[in-house]
Amino acid sequence: MSCKELVEVVTDYLEGVLSSQDRARLEEHLGQCPGCQTYLEQMRQVIQSLGKRNEDSISPGAWETLQQAFRNWKRAQ
Ligand SMILES: [Zn+2]
Repeated sequence: MSCKELVEVVTDYLEGVLSSQDRARLEEHLGQCPGCQTYLEQMRQVIQSLGKRNEDSISPGAWETLQQAFRNWKRAQ
């Protein structure tokens, strides 16, 4: 799995709806990519903070903003 692919499926992973096959590939990538470990941790914290403010699931627009922020961050590495 590439970093780009991880970004696209990380929301499904954190929501627990990713297939077991993709989850295994994601975790394999995490094991060798510190950048994605950091990203996953940040996403987890964002989800927790959003969850406190809003009972509903996170809007697609919010995910888009987060994913865009991550792409910019990776580009700056
Ligand atoms: Zn990665």
